[in-house]
Parts: sequence; C-alpha cells; structure tokens
Amino acid sequence: MEAKLDRRDFLKGAAVGAAGIGVASMLGACTPQQNGGDEPEATAPATSTTDGDLILNAELADSKWSFEIPPDPIPDSDIKEIVEAEIVVVGAGTSGLCTAVSAAEQGADVLLISASKAPVSRGGSNHAINSKVMEREGVEPYDLEKFMMRERILAANSVDQKKWSKLFNNNEEAMNWLIDLMEERGIPMTLETCAPEVVFGPDDPQFIPLAAHGAYSEDYDPGSGQPLIVNALAEILQEKGGRILFETKGVQLIRDDDNTGRVSAIIAQDLNTEEYTKYAASKAVVLATGDFSADKEMMKKYCPSMLPLIADDAGEDYDVGPATTGLYKGDGHKMGLWIGAGWQRNVPNCPMVNVQQGTAAQPYCGHCGLTLNINGERYSNEHATHSYTGRALMLQPGQVSFPIWATNYASEYGPWYARGAFDLPEMTTEEVIADWEDKVESGRFVKADTLEELVELLELPKETALASIARYNELCEKGHDDDFFKRADQMVPVRDAPFYGARVGGRFLTVMGGLRTNVDLQVCQDDDTPIEGLYVVGTMVGDFFNNTYTFLMEGLNYGGCCVTFGYVLGRELAAK
Ligand SMILES: Cc1cc2nc3c(=O)[nH]c(=O)nc-3n(C[C@H](O)[C@H](O)[C@H](O)COP(=O)(O)OP(=O)(O)OC[C@H]3O[C@@H](n4cnc5c(N)ncnc54)[C@H](O)[C@@H]3O)c2cc1C
Repeated sequence: MEAKLDRRDFLKGAAVGAAGIGVASMLGACTPQQNGGDEPEATAPATSTTDGDLILNAELADSKWSFEIPPDPIPDSDIKEIVEAEIVVVGAGTSGLCTAVSAAEQGADVLLISASKAPVSRGGSNHAINSKVMEREGVEPYDLEKFMMRERILAANSVDQKKWSKLFNNNEEAMNWLIDLMEERGIPMTLETCAPEVVFGPDDPQFIPLAAHGAYSEDYDPGSGQPLIVNALAEILQEKGGRILFETKGVQLIRDDDNTGRVSAIIAQDLNTEEYTKYAASKAVVLATGDFSADKEMMKKYCPSMLPLIADDAGEDYDVGPATTGLYKGDGHKMGLWIGAGWQRNVPNCPMVNVQQGTAAQPYCGHCGLTLNINGERYSNEHATHSYTGRALMLQPGQVSFPIWATNYASEYGPWYARGAFDLPEMTTEEVIADWEDKVESGRFVKADTLEELVELLELPKETALASIARYNELCEKGHDDDFFKRADQMVPVRDAPFYGARVGGRFLTVMGGLRTNVDLQVCQDDDTPIEGLYVVGTMVGDFFNNTYTFLMEGLNYGGCCVTFGYVLGRELAAK
C-alpha cells in the first residue's frame, strides 16, 4: 500500500527537516481515516532506535519522494501565448533531433524546444549491425543472433525484447539514413576502433564487434564526432521546415480530462524572459530530455550504487557536454510522473559507467595488467573491458584502483591502438612509452625506478602492495593465475624498470531509461495503459537496458535508442 500524502502535507513535512525525516515524522502523527474525508490515511507510525535513527518499514518505503509530487499547475493567466504544431519534441540531443528531422522530412509540422542554448552531444559512437559504411569498408556484419543472445544474458534477460526487435529490424535502414544526411553535407562517417579485437580475440566473451559508426573531421575523431552530427541535424530540421526554439525549458505537461485523457500540450519557460508559452501538439509530445543522473534523490531511488560518482553541483547546465559526474535532473521523467506515468519495471536503472586508466592497449579495454586496491591488494581478474573494470573497482574501498605496470608491458602486451578510426595503424612500443611519459608529465601517472618508490608515490601500504606485486609476478612466471584465473596470455609481469602507476576512480556517463514505455515508445501508466499523445525517445526509453550498460555493442544508445528509435518514431508520428 502506498502511504497517502497530498502535496501540501508533504511540503509541510519536508519543511521540518530533510525530506525523508519530515515525511516519516508526519506519517507517524496521522490519525486513521474515519469517514472517507480528505484526511491522509493512517499508516504505521515511524519508530526509532534509542539512538534516534528512524526505522523504515515496508509502508514508509512506499512513500513519495519530493520529485514525485506535482507542482501547482501553472494558471492560464500566466501563459503568454499558445503555439501550435503537430509534433512537439522536447530536447535537442541526438534522439530529439533524429525524431524531429525524420518527422519533418515526411511533411509533419514539427517544433523542437530545448532548454539548451544549442544542440547537445557527448562522445560519438553510433551502433549499427550493418550499413553502407561497413559495406564500403569491407566489414562483414556481425552475427546478430549470437551477440543479441549475449546481450540478453548480460541483462538477465530482463529487457523488453519487442523493443529490441523493433530496434534491430530498423537499425541498418536508420544508420544508412543518417550516413546519407551527413555525407550529403560533406561530413564523412566511418567506423571506430572499438573492438579489443586482438587483445581479447573474437572468441572472448567480451569481444566487441566492429559496429560503432562515427562522424569525423580535422577536429573530431570518429569516437567523439557527435557534435558534427547534432549540429548538422539542427540545420537540416530547419531546412525541412521544422522549427527549433533553444533556451526554452519544458516545465509541465497538459494531460486533458483531469489527468486521465491525452497529453495535448507542454508548457515551457523562456529561460531569458521567464515567460511561459503553451506548445499545443495535435499528434504528439515527444520527451527526449536525456537522463536524471544529476538529481540525487532520483539516483537514490533508482540507481543508488552510482551516487558516489555524482557531483553535488551537477545538473545546472542544460548544455552539459562530456561530463562524468552527472548530466541532467530528469525534467522529462518528472513531468511524466506528475501526469500519471509509471516507472519502468527494472529498478535499479542501468548505469553507463566505465574507467579510463590511460593504459588500455585498445580503446574500450581496461588496464589488463596488475591492479591493486587502496589496501595494496589485488582484487580481480584484470582482463576486462573498461566498463567491467569500472564495475569491479566500484566494489573496492574508496571506489578507487591502482594500475601498476613496468616498461616491458609496452612490448609484451598489446597490440596497441589509439582511439580513432578503425583503420589506424598499430602503435609502436616507442609510441606507447611516449604516451605514458606524456601522462607522467601531466601528473596522470607516476613513475619510479624501484617498486618501493612507486608504491610510496601511490601512497599504498608498502608491505602489502609489494607482496601483491611479488605474488603477481610469481603467478606470471608459473603461467597460471591461481588467484583470479586470468587468461595466461594476459599475464605480463611487472619486471623492467622504470615502473609506472596511477590512481583511478570510476567514470560515470549516464543512467538509462525511466518512464514506463511500450513498443510504440508511448509513455504508459503503472497499469501499462498508454498515455495518448505522449512518447519518449533516446536515453529515456524504459526497460531497454538492464543491469549495466555493457559497451559490448558499442554506441547502442546513440545508434539504437537515439538514431534508430528517433528515425522510426518520427516516421510513425508523421504518418498518424
Ligand atoms: C563523456 C560521455 C561520452 C558519451 N559517449 C557516448 C557515445 O559515444 N555513444 C553513446 O551511445 N552514448 C554516449 N554517451 C551517453 C550519452 O550521453 C547519451 O547516449 C546521449 O547523450 C543520449 O542522447 P539523448 O538524446 O537521449 O539525450 P541528451 O543528448 O542528453 O539530450 C537531452 C536534451 O534535452 C534537453 N533538456 C533537458 N531537460 C529539458 C527540459 N526541461 N526542457 C527542454 N529541454 C530539456 C537538454 O538540454 C538536451 O538538449 C556518453 C556520455 C558521456 C557522459
């Protein structure tokens, strides 16, 4: 049963202290509902330990968080103007722009509003199972059945497979559409070196097929070229007759018939004048507002394991670029919840997290040599992609790790590839060491002539750390990792001076999903009834990912949930 609170009661409770304490105290004071009146229903009183700690129970755990409580509706008298369109898209990231362009191309009257000052993007890997770029480059499409099976297993099979079918059945067509749009404007696309092809090999369970597409220029390599794509899409949208309004923040959805009917409009605020406008949508409002990672309450409820990586001041910037400490405060999610949308079934939501130690032999690998924790102990099989390396370190004290390696790692491990296009040449041993030296220079790595000095520089417990290094070298010599069962060909000893080390934490990118979403990308209530007129696309699509974002189908959020779903949704809405 849900603890019942109206908004005013909640705020009263919140005013006496932190939201949770306020709610719990107030609930304890409620009297049982006698006569079906407006009084809050009784619920179990909050109890506390002798130290004063409140004790949670099942009923209190169902209480609402402040972000779930709808604000007072903005009165009509505060609305400066009503603007009409068939489709109103909210958010100028890759997903919103793809949806808007796809619909506008089909002749729909599209208006895109975004709180950002300009199109928004990060990174640049866009997944596709096949494409004209792959054909042009002679890259065979990968075995979809095999890799989809692996992805499902890694997600505990707890994903909406209807959405997966829709995505993979349209992925090639959508990517070819994007490639044509870009290349017609002189923006070339290619494949990114994402596969730890040689380091891991195609039979390794962590093998990443070559399928991440990216735009590039003199300023951007294919793994970071998304700004080229979103800027071009914004221009194309306007050429196709679509309208874009930046610095226009969606604040409340209008759901007709006292929040039981269809969503017919969104009220947005001009961030310069602070005036409100109602954007009425005869066909659809499409939420494409990205994630909710910068709202600490939402993260506490929906993805608590990532909270240590979120900054206190995250979420103030609607133009946030490649930040790794939280992006947005979930405006779109909240607006949906306030008009009766349900949350997706998988909780916790799936995080996109990795680690960049700077010593990966190929992009998307972790540091596959010796790694210690803050106690100087080895704690894992280091042969892992950067995402799985990141997950392993999140379980360690202080959520920090210490890769340690020696000069011989450059020649005995590898082959080494820099991030960039898939056909970049292999790095030489000299180039690898020069790259390490640059990072020593910049303070990212430390370097020492002896292991004693190295562990001192890393401030690790000396005796334990040296014993861990000696043990690792012994296992390398033996050719079998008795401790963590790392593949023998991945065991490179820490042998030849100078020695190197680093201190590295987890790197949070985003959190996936949110509102309950059906295969048509309609937002649904808790009982799965679709809310007519309201759609989501991009990161917001519910129950598409689960567990952890694997990165093994590199760029699946951009290539799949943003480009493919955006392309398909735009066309479907235009045809309505
Ligand atoms: C460093 C880094 C690198 C990454 N690289 C990749 C990659 O290569 N491939 C990949 O698939 N993923 C990558 N990601 C994840 C990436 O952030 C998402 O895949 C991608 O941005 C999702 O696009 P989107 O359209 O869903 O949302 P976003 O790109 O986040 O766009 C959201 C838009 O909504 C707007 N908005 C928010 N609130 C409101 C509001 N109230 N009213 C109006 N507008 C609003 C924002 O201003 C923004 O314009 C990376 C993330 C990070 C941090």
